[in-house]
Amino acid sequence: MSVVNGKRDAAWFGVEPDDGAFALEAGKGSEGPFAGVVFNRPVDQVFTYRVPSRLSALLRAGHRVSVPLGRGNKPAVGYVVRVDPGLPEGVTPGRIKDVLEVLDDPPLIDGPMLELTRWMAGYYACAWGQALDAVVPAGVKKQAGTRVGTYLVVPEEVAARRDEVLAELPAKQAEVLATLLRGDEPLTAADVGRMAKCGPGPIASLRQRGLLHTVKRRARKRSAGADAPDDANDTGVKQRPALTAEQQQVLDALTPALTADAFATFLIHGVTGSGKTEVYLSAIEAVVARGREAIVLVPEISLTPQTIRRFKRRFSRVAVLHSHLSDAERHRHWQSIASGEVEVVVGARSAVFAPARRLGLIVIDEEHESTFKQETTPRYHARDIAVKRAQLEGLPVLLGSATPALETWRNAELGRYTKLSLLERVGNRPMPEVGLIDLRHEKAPLGGLSDTLRRAMIEALEAKGQVILLLNRRGFHTFVICPNPQCGQVLKCDSCDVSLTYHKQRRLLICHACDAERQRPPSCPNCRSTNLHYGGIGTERLEREVLLAFPDHRVRRMDSDTMRSPGSHEAVLSAFKAGEVDILLGTQMIAKGLDFPNVTLVGVVNADTALHMPDFRAAERTFQLVAQVAGRTGRGDRPGRVLVQTCSPDVPAIAHAAHHDYEGFVATELPQRQQLGMPPYGRLVRVIVRGPDEPVVRDTIEAVAAAFRDAAPGSVRVAGPAPAPVLKIRNLYRYHLRLIAPTPRPLQELLRAAGSAVPMPNGVELAIDVDPTGML
Ligand code: ADP
Ligand code: ZN
Ligand code: ZN
Repeated sequence: MSVVNGKRDAAWFGVEPDDGAFALEAGKGSEGPFAGVVFNRPVDQVFTYRVPSRLSALLRAGHRVSVPLGRGNKPAVGYVVRVDPGLPEGVTPGRIKDVLEVLDDPPLIDGPMLELTRWMAGYYACAWGQALDAVVPAGVKKQAGTRVGTYLVVPEEVAARRDEVLAELPAKQAEVLATLLRGDEPLTAADVGRMAKCGPGPIASLRQRGLLHTVKRRARKRSAGADAPDDANDTGVKQRPALTAEQQQVLDALTPALTADAFATFLIHGVTGSGKTEVYLSAIEAVVARGREAIVLVPEISLTPQTIRRFKRRFSRVAVLHSHLSDAERHRHWQSIASGEVEVVVGARSAVFAPARRLGLIVIDEEHESTFKQETTPRYHARDIAVKRAQLEGLPVLLGSATPALETWRNAELGRYTKLSLLERVGNRPMPEVGLIDLRHEKAPLGGLSDTLRRAMIEALEAKGQVILLLNRRGFHTFVICPNPQCGQVLKCDSCDVSLTYHKQRRLLICHACDAERQRPPSCPNCRSTNLHYGGIGTERLEREVLLAFPDHRVRRMDSDTMRSPGSHEAVLSAFKAGEVDILLGTQMIAKGLDFPNVTLVGVVNADTALHMPDFRAAERTFQLVAQVAGRTGRGDRPGRVLVQTCSPDVPAIAHAAHHDYEGFVATELPQRQQLGMPPYGRLVRVIVRGPDEPVVRDTIEAVAAAFRDAAPGSVRVAGPAPAPVLKIRNLYRYHLRLIAPTPRPLQELLRAAGSAVPMPNGVELAIDVDPTGML
């Protein structure tokens, strides 16, 4: 598979436009044309099929088709990536099979999306068919919420002579025909009978006269209640605050790009509370006013009604793509976006593939968030997809963050992205004052709160402020250890190389890697010592400590244990907003994007949780988390305060976060990355081999490493192989190696040359992660 360099290859797109026909009656076999078809399998090949004449008027690139595959000719679903009038070079005519059926009409994939997925396949080292399959939601492929029915249609030439024809018909038949000519959705005989209040007679007569045809086609189910109605868009006054001088400057800098139909990438680096969202809204207004559409990506956790409302207040046709949609709803949204009924698409990662056909802008809020990276094949990063899509379709991209990813920052430094800054909070609000509490000197007596933090909470609550406490670990105790000095074993999951967390409410030990649950053992499974020691503090234990210390205040915990059911997240947030909760504590869920003016104190219970991870981004993650949660306070009329508990107050990530000093952090972190050749200076590919038998996995990764070393040019360094930091997950042993190079091109070439050189033994899988965000 090749890497697209922006050039359009006419052969891929030089196909006839759709004529709207949907006739699938059998025809005679003929020579061509020929369709190139790819499959959702890890096979890097385009297969050639003959297009039978009954399909040749209809079929074009982007269609999903059913074709016979393999010796048994089992029907398989594939994607047509090209249609050629003659036989492509190197294909033997005798062995070509026919396309069986076209599965969707019009095609689900358009030309730009074909090109984007071909680039994805090359860049992320997967098959083109895998990339194509990832961009179409399952509900769309299943055509959820629709059914096949027999519909009545009036032939074009009859419709053209409408008045003349109607005048000649008996009254009932004329009424039926008029009903059909008026209808803007497909009608069955039963629909028409009901609407024109007639039996089957007039319809049959019209068919005999050749004034009606029937076609089989797929249409939306009409059954009431099958589809939830759209959330009502806010029809009230479109509220638009006057932009601040800084916001206006940023908007002015964007304006030429918003009207140019040309590719450009902007980084809006704006401190927390600086009004980035307001800038996005104005930028979107500019493109919508030109009849263009916008896609806005936000982390899934930020897709709260509060966020959605901000968009719905300003735009009348907003589609929200979140993970709780049913297949039928997702399909309906997809269709309405594809048919141009939507102005703004707001969604999480996969919304970057929304089928907007007149796209004018892509916005990525909190672009540094690692949830924009997909962790299964194709392992794409939505930010990078957005930039590529914008380049292919010729439009601007806005990346926004208070703590940009270092890759993004570097791209701005190199001039690839244009950096625009919002240095001040809206309304001249000061950034909150941040104090560090050194846990080496001041202990937290019950594990969570130091005296200083507890006293600050009392003060804030007495002044009727609200408090947010961040602890990025769920559960009650975070580990269980054997007290016997000869043993000292930490209790681990049976299937994973991960220590178990004690969840007190459920009275269970739980593995956070595979969710396996087990009872508490009476003694050490290794040496039978009793009195196992439970240690470490998670949000559940912090909640109990806070309840004990503040019995008269209302406390709510927000983590993935308490937020299981859809809507619970929002319920807590609105209770907090309404002042019905005084203290909100939780994991990183509470660190993101919330805008509550009455929060006057944020406490970070342990800033070090991510600091010692075996990951070159550990410092960056720590900085982002502390800086983001600190940004949740001081957003109203009262100043905010932040207290950060840490054992490492001098570590640059924490010290700079305490001063809201992003650039200071970058200045210490970038040279280290450069020295190590790590991103953003080097490009990284992680190759993981996993399987049930450790020696086999080890031998396989050795062979894979040897193949890469043999094929690697001088610019690529092969590091490893080594056991992955988490050796075993779900009974699969994991070994990895890393490929490092200054630019992506040699890595892609190496992956293509050697990525499948080593055959995988039974049960062993090879995963290739380009630009990995997780290193465990
Ligand atoms: P960010 O996304 O940078 O954290 P937001 O866009 O959420 O910031 O803005 C922070 C708060 O300031 C929000 O409550 C928003 O409604 C308000 N705000 C933003 N811009 C303005 C403005 N120009 N005038 C008044 N209020 C504004
Ligand atoms: Zn496990
Ligand atoms: Zn033991």
